Amino acid sequence: MSRSLYWKITSPVLLIALVGTLSVSLAAPYLLEWFVTQTAVDNAQQQAATFRNIRNYYSEQVVAKVTGSGGFNVMADHQLSAEGVPVPATFLIEMVDYDKPQELVMTDLISPYPFKNRIERKMDEYQKRAWKAVQANPDEFYVELLEQDGKMMVRAAQADRLNAPACVACHNNHPTSLKRDWKLGDVRGLLEVSTVVDGWLERGVWISRTLSGVTLLAFALVMLVNFRVARQVSEPLNRISGSLRSLSRGEDRGLSPEDYQYQEVESLADAFNGFSEKERERKQLAHKVEMLAYTDPLTQLANRTGFQQELDKRMSESAERQALVRIWLVDVDHFRDINDTLGYEVGDKVLGLLAEALQRTLPADTLLARLGEDEFGVLLDVAADTAEWSGLEYMAEQVQQAVSEHLQVAGRTLKLTASVGAACSSHDAENGQELILQANIALHQAKALGRNRAVIHSPELSAAVTQRVELVHDMHNGLELGEFVPFYQPQFDLQTGALIGAEALMRWQRKDGSLMPPGMFIPVAEQSSLIVPMGAQIMENACRDCQAWQAEGLEGIRVAVNVSSVQFADDDLVALTRAVLEKTGLQPALLELEVTESGLLAEVDEVIASLQKLHELGIELALDDFGTGYSSLSYLKTLPVDRLKIDREFVRDLLNSSDDQAILRMIVELGKQLNLKILAEGVEEAEQLALLKASGCQEVQGFYYAKPLPLNEFIEYAKNYSVAETTV
Ligand code: C2E
Ligand code: CA
Ligand code: CA
Repeated sequence: MSRSLYWKITSPVLLIALVGTLSVSLAAPYLLEWFVTQTAVDNAQQQAATFRNIRNYYSEQVVAKVTGSGGFNVMADHQLSAEGVPVPATFLIEMVDYDKPQELVMTDLISPYPFKNRIERKMDEYQKRAWKAVQANPDEFYVELLEQDGKMMVRAAQADRLNAPACVACHNNHPTSLKRDWKLGDVRGLLEVSTVVDGWLERGVWISRTLSGVTLLAFALVMLVNFRVARQVSEPLNRISGSLRSLSRGEDRGLSPEDYQYQEVESLADAFNGFSEKERERKQLAHKVEMLAYTDPLTQLANRTGFQQELDKRMSESAERQALVRIWLVDVDHFRDINDTLGYEVGDKVLGLLAEALQRTLPADTLLARLGEDEFGVLLDVAADTAEWSGLEYMAEQVQQAVSEHLQVAGRTLKLTASVGAACSSHDAENGQELILQANIALHQAKALGRNRAVIHSPELSAAVTQRVELVHDMHNGLELGEFVPFYQPQFDLQTGALIGAEALMRWQRKDGSLMPPGMFIPVAEQSSLIVPMGAQIMENACRDCQAWQAEGLEGIRVAVNVSSVQFADDDLVALTRAVLEKTGLQPALLELEVTESGLLAEVDEVIASLQKLHELGIELALDDFGTGYSSLSYLKTLPVDRLKIDREFVRDLLNSSDDQAILRMIVELGKQLNLKILAEGVEEAEQLALLKASGCQEVQGFYYAKPLPLNEFIEYAKNYSVAETTV
């Protein structure tokens, strides 16, 4: 852990201030004492020197002359004689005592060997210590600071030597001298100068206090400035680092322009602001790029990626937010026609208008996206306790209504419809992708049911899709194993009663022995285009079988093969038929292809051309399920068909409906006019047969005669069939 710059800057100064103030206040008394003592000693030295000079002067200039004159006596106790002149030592002692000058500096000359007249002058404790000291060190001052009589004193003493022969002589010869073996230079006594330093100390204490105070004040001032500087440096740094941190979290918190006080900090702030500006630009750019990636440029709505992302997000949050996620996939019906007939420019305009119309209709919290060319997605989440279906259908209707608003484009009024598939996250969808899959299944169903409707996903729907997928898989296998075989239902000439042909009806004979009727798998086969190879297989089988009949005594019996509209759309139908005929060697006239009206509606011209080509192969063509579709008599005329097959639904109600009977007569009449044979299917009862016969219908098939039969049974049936049995 690194230390903060603030403390790094301030702590040394704080430390120095503390140590400084402390040491000043601690050291001051000692310094003071030292100063006082030293000064006192200097004074004492000075004083001592002065006294010594005076004495020397006295010795040389007074005592010497007096001694020579004979008029006076130089004596220690000179007071006793009128001619007495004091010896130098006495002179000095008496001089310093003379007027007991200022109390502050006191001088004393004392010896452990006094003359008799001064025998009472004894050394005090300090002087005894000093005496001992000067024995060892006669040139030094012996100094002590001590308290005496309530006063602080510096006492300094120096050795007083016998430094003149006269002195030595006098001391050795003086009658009251206690010691008589003095030599020149001997230490005879102490010359002490004592100074009362109370006043000095008081002043010193005042000085030291003032000094400490000033020091403290100075340091405090320095610290104050230091703290300020440290703050001025560290605060902006903290701000910059704070901003950097928030920048790294993705929040943009630029620095406000302010006075940074210091160039270095300011340039750092500038650099940061420059960087964050760049970062802002980079983010904006990234945002733009993201927008482009997630937006449909034509409508400015979210695109598939954007939709999916938002959906995934809401799905993952839905549990936490206690919400149900709902989506609606909207597919504009037959939109391609607009592009094909009016051009892409108009198509784009239409999409833009649709987007606007949808946007207007949908609640504000709905996400609308363009998922594909003509596919929109709507995303909305609702509280988890919302009833499952409530709103799902309503919103689907709203969407359909929005799409079906009249659009004014390129001088035209267009009215479109939409197929809608909706799904709600309550149906086990784990994630966005699964939800989209469910909605897609529903949309698929809506389209399969004929478009312009909404289907809401249900688990059953998914199950059906799963089944269908499995069915397709099984059909693939079945196709490879040749499990799709034709059963044959005989057809008869109503007037003669003769068996004239058979319709090949596909059955799925599975390996497990089950037999599946075409209604259960053909719709799926048609959706997956599997019907194309399946139909080819049936056609080949039927033609081969029919060819075989011819050799087995069933000459002239035709075979009719059903052709799905999907096969019809497949270009190869003509080529296939030709190839099958060549391969099986069947006479074209013995083959009939049954086509349904619905298969022909799509591209009339092309269909007619194909039928024409088939017809040119020499085969017959039948129009299946006639009477159920929206038969347009005008185009019937242009179709190269040979036979109309009246639908069995129509035959079923024939006995009870005089309308149907009238229509039957009309169809028969039409057949005559257009030279078409009329075959009625689904005949189950003799009465139906009689009625058909009476109305002039030429051919029939139905359970009344036989159900669709497996090949061998059909052959047997055909061989055993005699006209007499069935003639009515
Ligand atoms: P469809 O072409 O209209 O065939 C006639 C259907 O009516 C057959 O049903 C037949 O079994 C049934 N039928 C015949 N007589 C009677 C009767 O008296 N009463 C009743 N109730 N029904 C009768 P199936 O075999 O189940 O075939 C159903 C449909 O499947 C066919 O209708 C046809 O559209 C289609 N289909 C059958 N085989 C093929 C094929 O090989 N290719 C194609 N593309 N479609 C086929
Ligand atoms: Ca048929
Ligand atoms: Ca039919």
